[in-house]
Amino acid sequence: PFRQRLLVVANRLPVSAVRTSEDSWSMEMSAGGLVSALLGIKEIEAIWIGWAGVNVPDEIGQKTLTKALAEKRCIPVILDEEIVHQYYNGYCNNILWPLFHYLGLPQEDRLATTRSFQSQFAAYKKANQMFADVVKEYYQEGDVVWCHDYHLMFLPKFLKDYDSNMKVGWFLHTPFPSSEIHRMLPSRSELLHSVIAADLVAFHTYDYARHFVSACTRILGLEGTPKGVEDQGRLTRVTAFPIGIDSERFIHALDLPEVKENIKEFEERFKGRKVMLGVDRLDMIKGIPQKILAFEKFLEENACWRDKVVLIQIAVPTRTDVLEYQKLTSQVHEIVGRINGRFGTLTAVPVLHLDRSLEFHKLCALYAVTDVALVTSLRDGMNLVSYEYVACQNSKKGVLILSEFAGAAQSLGAGAILVNPWNITEVAAAIDQALNMPSDKREKWHARNFLHVKTHTAQQWAETLVSELNQTVAEQRRRT
Ligand code: UDP
Repeated sequence: PFRQRLLVVANRLPVSAVRTSEDSWSMEMSAGGLVSALLGIKEIEAIWIGWAGVNVPDEIGQKTLTKALAEKRCIPVILDEEIVHQYYNGYCNNILWPLFHYLGLPQEDRLATTRSFQSQFAAYKKANQMFADVVKEYYQEGDVVWCHDYHLMFLPKFLKDYDSNMKVGWFLHTPFPSSEIHRMLPSRSELLHSVIAADLVAFHTYDYARHFVSACTRILGLEGTPKGVEDQGRLTRVTAFPIGIDSERFIHALDLPEVKENIKEFEERFKGRKVMLGVDRLDMIKGIPQKILAFEKFLEENACWRDKVVLIQIAVPTRTDVLEYQKLTSQVHEIVGRINGRFGTLTAVPVLHLDRSLEFHKLCALYAVTDVALVTSLRDGMNLVSYEYVACQNSKKGVLILSEFAGAAQSLGAGAILVNPWNITEVAAAIDQALNMPSDKREKWHARNFLHVKTHTAQQWAETLVSELNQTVAEQRRRT
């Protein structure tokens, strides 16, 4: 049977590669949503192209890495340390990430004329060219090329310049901000032009898609149509395809003896108290200080709850070498310390804050025993934690408090308490409402969201995107 080849190009390959000697590597495929999703589609043969996340300056290393990765259907883009620093830490994480999440531009980079901005932008472009070179090497006619995220905004253009018949899609995993924000970017036009070289441009929500089309009309002066953006008679299809999770992976996990054991332990440990849970990378966009401040306000106003509720905050460390992130960590620790000092007793504290990640089975168990999940992102492309929580709640039927600034608010909002995370009073009231919600309402909300999470999976997302891309290209060819 014919299987269409899908080249999935993303900054990071879905593997962790550890060098065990001069010429050997140990490889582990990360079991994330997209990987298992694509493995489950029979009609598609997926090949991954991206950076392996390690610096490999020597030729033996590069050769043996490439060989070891090939077994996992992965192809590396070899980036040296300096380019990673400028392209990845610099332009991607320091410029595009904060800007796309409405955090503005770093002060010293406001002017395109500053040295760091220009050299970072140049490195970004160069890195994108290196990704394009690897794609070109492996591309065969008929392949579909799916470019991922803000790291690779030049890739569609570089690929189409090489072969205008290539089927190219680009998906953004973060929000796309209002055109008023995107305008601030010194390279605003070049980036937009490069992205619309793709046949299909897709986002998590209609808002992001609309923002992108507005940016193209206002900044580039192009014409927006209901289907997308038109440039000199050529249409780029712009649309919303919200991602999902591999829900079965979570649902099945709950039946494993090990997870059941964990659930029992957690229940024992938190007996007599309601469990509230936050799971976030420790990033400014997640609104962790705001969340904990709202919890403090709730405890202030509801003395009767002080020894009857615990907030477990899993804060997964991220970009720990960056000063701003270190400051955020201390800020959070300070607030947590204050609250535990104020409201703790000899036997229990109200906030259990962990600066670490959890292994998958423990995470599932924790989701399962939680009464109220608290997602207070200031901006978030989608927020998969909210989906994972819903998937693990079929027996408990707990409540989800969800920021209206997370993409997930568009899909799970009707079965959640939506909040503005900046409004601490509102979030404190939402906590009160969630803890006191009658079971019939909880069941109704859970049933709604559970159905959504089960039917809008990562696999379905990937399938839709690929078939839509094939269709868009077929239509284009009919038109010309
Ligand atoms: N996660 C993890 N280890 C942990 C806690 C969470 O790998 O200890 C995962 C979690 O299961 C989820 C992802 O991290 O799939 C976070 O995704 P989300 O979309 O919520 O936020 P992002 O980190 O991508 O901004």
